[in-house]
Amino acid sequence: MSFENLNLIEPILRALKTEGYTEPTPIQAEAIPVVLKGRDLLGCAQTGTGKTAAFAIPILQLLNATQGQDGPNKPIKALILTPTRELAVQIGESFTAYGKHTGLRHTVIYGGVSQFSQTEALKRGVDILIATPGRLLDLMNQRFVHLHHVKMFVLDEADRMLDMGFINDVKKVITKLPAKRQTLFFSATMPPVISKLADSILFEPVNVEVTPVSSTVDKITQSVYYVTKSDKKSLLIHLLKDKAIESALVFTRTKHVADRITKELLKAGVKAAAIHGNKSQNARQNALTDFKTKKIRVLVATDIAARGIDVDNLSHVINYELPNVPETYVHRIGRTGRAGLSGVAMSFCDGEEKAYLKDIQKLIGIQVPVIEEHPYPMSHAEMNTKFEAPKKEFHKKPSHHSGQSKSSAPNKAGNHWANKTKKTGGGNTSSPAGGNTSAPKKHHSGGGKSWGPKKPSGGNNFSY
Ligand code: AMP
Repeated sequence: MSFENLNLIEPILRALKTEGYTEPTPIQAEAIPVVLKGRDLLGCAQTGTGKTAAFAIPILQLLNATQGQDGPNKPIKALILTPTRELAVQIGESFTAYGKHTGLRHTVIYGGVSQFSQTEALKRGVDILIATPGRLLDLMNQRFVHLHHVKMFVLDEADRMLDMGFINDVKKVITKLPAKRQTLFFSATMPPVISKLADSILFEPVNVEVTPVSSTVDKITQSVYYVTKSDKKSLLIHLLKDKAIESALVFTRTKHVADRITKELLKAGVKAAAIHGNKSQNARQNALTDFKTKKIRVLVATDIAARGIDVDNLSHVINYELPNVPETYVHRIGRTGRAGLSGVAMSFCDGEEKAYLKDIQKLIGIQVPVIEEHPYPMSHAEMNTKFEAPKKEFHKKPSHHSGQSKSSAPNKAGNHWANKTKKTGGGNTSSPAGGNTSAPKKHHSGGGKSWGPKKPSGGNNFSY
């Protein structure tokens, strides 16, 4: 399957070629034709599956077909609602990349920064608006945003909206959208509240389900280091002596620990920065840019801040602290091994975290190999200390996907993404017209990022 088979227009194909995409990911192959036909979509997929392009590409194509029909004051015709600023920025970057030859305009609005440049962009007119819910409602109340021309609505990461307490804001936005529209609904998990919301806003949707959980895990070389809490810092600095770790995303459970280890790393001469909810939007964005451009080697992040972080070619994820929700482990290590690349995930486990590790191993269906040869091993006594299983905190355990993590067989398409589609119901007539009529048959060859199957990864090659 190539992008040419999806009847995409030449300006988009050209942009995809520049991005180095050679073949669509499963969710793109399934979703793009459905969206181009004007159908509603229920996509069960998480970040890392290529879902952004799965909605951005057909939106660009459909809006391109009707471009110029609404005069110079471009009203907003597509709205993408996403939970975090980082995701909003990344979605904006995707629209920039895929839409650069279309002439369509988009802007991104999110809270925590001055609204001035955002309202200026809105005044100039945009075809596509990417927004987080709070700032969107704010600018709607101030009458900078009008949604009555919206034809396409994307709700991204619906389950995360729920986790972060945004679901009522989302519902408020939905009440302001025209009833006659095309809706694309994405969620990694489908807890009952989310599935009810999906039912209430989708019209005879096509379901597309991509479950990369186990496959992501398969491609990543995982290991665990038993180490006391107090030795974790020294172990991290020791591991980072390995030049093979070009860049690493280090996860902590709390902002406090993120700040503390960032300071320690800087003291040890390792270029590092932290991102978490207490950092200003600018500080977060700068840290992310410095990490992406390799100005810094280590980015230390909490789970919420890291949600949706998309860094090409990230080689290593280090769990300085294990997450107390096993699915979070899968989300974290999925930051590496993106777009068909393999990666390395190393986890530190202290006595209190052994219960977390047990839950994680149960979810992913494998025993994570233990690295015993390192300079800070836990003593036998510490290893066997009896401890109370720590209580799970505020995260809700998703009810939907946990069983899927055990299946590790590649799907029949030969790639590592288990996916299936289920068509239901008739056509939805509310979308903009066709638009997919002018796909030239061009052939692109090699050189780009491939989405094909990966060789199983070998053990990690660090020496101690
Ligand atoms: P997403 O799930 O949208 O966050 O995408 C995850 C990553 O996959 C991003 O870095 C995209 O640039 C990349 N990506 C998306 N589609 C493709 C594709 N067809 N081929 C290669 N990489 C892709």
